[in-house]
Amino acid sequence: MNDNFISDYIKNIEISGIRKFFNEVSNYPNAISLTLGQPDFFVPQAIKKALIDAIKDNKTGYTSNAGIVELRKEISNYLKRFHIDYLPEEICITAGGSEGLFDTFIALLNPGEKVLIPKIAYPAYESLTKLVGGEPIFYELDNNFNPNIEDVEKKIIREAPKILILSFPSNPTGTTLSMKDRQDLYNIIKNNNILVISDEIYSSLCFEEEYYSICQYEEILDKIILINGFSKMFSMTGLRVGYICCNEKYMKHIIKVHQYNTSCAPSIVQWALVEGLKNSLDEVEYMRNEFIKRRDYVYNRLVQLGFEVNLPKGAFYIFPSIKKFNMSSEEFAYRLLKEGNVAVVPGSAFGEGGEGYIRISYAYSMEALEEALDRISKWIKSLKSPGLG
Ligand code: PMP
Repeated sequence: MNDNFISDYIKNIEISGIRKFFNEVSNYPNAISLTLGQPDFFVPQAIKKALIDAIKDNKTGYTSNAGIVELRKEISNYLKRFHIDYLPEEICITAGGSEGLFDTFIALLNPGEKVLIPKIAYPAYESLTKLVGGEPIFYELDNNFNPNIEDVEKKIIREAPKILILSFPSNPTGTTLSMKDRQDLYNIIKNNNILVISDEIYSSLCFEEEYYSICQYEEILDKIILINGFSKMFSMTGLRVGYICCNEKYMKHIIKVHQYNTSCAPSIVQWALVEGLKNSLDEVEYMRNEFIKRRDYVYNRLVQLGFEVNLPKGAFYIFPSIKKFNMSSEEFAYRLLKEGNVAVVPGSAFGEGGEGYIRISYAYSMEALEEALDRISKWIKSLKSPGLG
């Protein structure tokens, strides 16, 4: 087909590298895949029951665009646990965090405007920027994948981006926001003409004692759009519900995009989530503890194998360096798949800064992780790489 029929903005973006690699894995039926950000737990029982009840009660029509007020109230209460204050009127329920991000980018960005994105990040931020004709620019991270605060400030002053992206706990690095960085970012945001999109989709999977978020500062809350959702929290990626929180002055525009996009999030899932937030938080805690065990296991095995790797503090990804193998991350991932029968995502799928790393998702059973690490170990031993035993 003639490419001329396709929008220039769309031609300019690529299908996600994560999906690309996941699709490739289907050609290797014996491979263990550690590629997806999808927990292997079942949806909590109470949520399943509430879903079925909602169908039986015929709660299957459109809801209001913003979503049912019962759920927005529960979300507003739930966020208080994280010391984040949004009123139910400041919340819009979406078809996943993905839709939340999409609506927000469309509503805020004009062609040519800049978005300041972490140098290693979830691919949607860069693609959505380009999809609207915006210009992605990037801030550096330090060796532990924390934001380089000086660079953030420098880029804001020199390049005047309209939007700053914060994404903690991070996909793919597992980094969380530290108290100090939160304070420094607060000062920068307060003193500059910038809006923040804070993607906190993994907030329920923070392994630290304290959860730090830029949204905890009341004084700058009118400069922040919070994106969150339930895919990871309740292990329900296919049920497609997330939410946007922001001041009414942005919400009244974002909701127009949401309205033309999906009208409303799936009704029965909204009703089931009211139940979930009331009665399934123990299950979330159980899953978080299981992820901590898996994280420790994978981290220790990788260290034993000689990988340079940071201990993730949240989400369910680990991002070891593969620089000493003298291969690109794509070559490493393809060879590990073909020769070692394990699929991981090349770091380059997360932007230029991700080159030299691979992303391993540990949202898989302990048995799968054990077998995968045995295979990785065997494969590495078959390579004649210096410095790795
Ligand atoms: N943000 C980040 C950082 C993610 O990793 C994901 C899913 N992988 C999303 C947003 C979107 O998730 P969903 O649409 O399932 O809520």
